[in-house]
Amino acid sequence: VSTTLEPTSAALAALRAAIDGQLYTPDDEGYDTARRAWNLVVDQHPAAVVLPTSARDVAETVRAAAAAGLRVTVQTTGHNVGTTGDLRDTVLVRTSAMHGVRIDPDRRVAHVEAGALWEQVVEPAAAHGLVALHGSSPDVGVVGYCLGGGIGWLARRHGLAAHHVVAAEVVTADGRIVRVTAEDEPDLLWALKGGGGNVAVVTALEIRLFPLDQVTAGWLIWPWEDSHRVLSAWTAWCEDAPESVTSIARLLQLPPLPVIPEPLRGRRLVVIELAVLHDGPDPEAVIAPLRALAPEIDTVQVMPPIGLMRLHQDPEGPTPGLSDSVMLDGLPEEALRELLAAAGPGSDSPLLAVELRQLGGALARPVPGAALSELDGRFVLFALGLPMDPDQGAAIMAAASGLVARMAPWGRGRRYMNFTEVPVDAGEFFAEGAHRRLRAVRDAHDPERRLQANHAVG
Ligand SMILES: Cc1cc2nc3c(=O)[nH]c(=O)nc-3n(C[C@H](O)[C@H](O)[C@H](O)COP(=O)(O)OP(=O)(O)OC[C@H]3O[C@@H](n4cnc5c(N)ncnc54)[C@H](O)[C@@H]3O)c2cc1C
Repeated sequence: VSTTLEPTSAALAALRAAIDGQLYTPDDEGYDTARRAWNLVVDQHPAAVVLPTSARDVAETVRAAAAAGLRVTVQTTGHNVGTTGDLRDTVLVRTSAMHGVRIDPDRRVAHVEAGALWEQVVEPAAAHGLVALHGSSPDVGVVGYCLGGGIGWLARRHGLAAHHVVAAEVVTADGRIVRVTAEDEPDLLWALKGGGGNVAVVTALEIRLFPLDQVTAGWLIWPWEDSHRVLSAWTAWCEDAPESVTSIARLLQLPPLPVIPEPLRGRRLVVIELAVLHDGPDPEAVIAPLRALAPEIDTVQVMPPIGLMRLHQDPEGPTPGLSDSVMLDGLPEEALRELLAAAGPGSDSPLLAVELRQLGGALARPVPGAALSELDGRFVLFALGLPMDPDQGAAIMAAASGLVARMAPWGRGRRYMNFTEVPVDAGEFFAEGAHRRLRAVRDAHDPERRLQANHAVG
């Protein structure tokens, strides 16, 4: 066969024969489904898509790509790949067929294959009274989330999910399967903790779980005409809120879609979502100052921790999204006025959601042994729209990036990788020394830059 095909086709044909999983080239039926990203705005056309079923398949793929002069990019879902380009010279490794999850209740650890989504970990962990540090979406990939940091509902108590990665199994850029632990591969483990997908293909992670019986959580909702009053009070409340609470404030312009429940459908709102652990001050007392703002709807209640998985009501399944994001040092009166002028009542903003995630607590304490040692800011701002056509897309991007630019005086240009879906200098994610070390680890493990992460380390 190899004599009748050009070299790339021959290498891909050999790879197809060598792996247990599936391989799709543009000529194959199934290629369009295999290449589709969760974010429907992304239109990627890789040289081939491989759906491995084992670390061995991944190693074969990396070696075959090298032999064919192709690069390799890895995606669990395609939630955050708007920056990777069209991939014509790249093999896309889609890990979705590797979704095994094993819970070790004695060690309080989950062994998670590369393609597992958060809901595939949260449900079996809950059966043992354990929680994982998942984020707001059940169908985000565990590995991609942890590689980028990972802030969820327990973040101010336990910090970034990346800091609770215990070990990993990876395939290196030269096609070796390597177990990564603090003892055997300290540099690689350090780089995987928040450094993104720059140093190896992760085939499995071991992540720490936490015992938890109950949590107090829910939404407080007001008409968005109350945005200034509510956000101003929330910002002040954040100043000395205990670490047992993690909250998110949102400006929402909900479309009139049937999937949205009746009291909220088609409405403009200001919302505070929160989760309070029962291991600190009385949750009722923690929430009282926010309840004193007289929300129109109050869903906050004691619930089993599994309720946190869908608390934020993120869209599930493929969705088009355009966004921009930045970290802020605070939200003083002037900043709040700027934010509301750009995206609040009367602004005519096309953004579906402007979200402010409360940082601080454990997120702010530097953890040695991680490329992303802490999140050095008070809030992460995330501005998002769902484009239905290119004109709308242009308006959404202008509004999201315009808002980020207007908020620049209240940040230091630092960004959080997981919420960054536009191309930026990776120096905006990391402290200077960490960025330098990350590049050095990448150069040591991938000197040819075979691996293509969504946010290349530079
Ligand atoms: C609806 C929604 C809700 C979200 N909520 C949160 C949240 O609450 N908290 C938070 O911190 N983030 C959140 N995110 C951001 C999310 O964590 C990032 O988008 C993350 O990159 C998604 O990981 P993924 O594997 O699903 O994505 P993918 O797009 O598949 O992967 C993103 C990148 O991760 C790397 N990668 C993925 N898998 C591997 C692998 N096996 N080996 C090596 N590199 C790999 C690659 O560089 C890839 O380009 C959310 C995103 C969305 C769209």
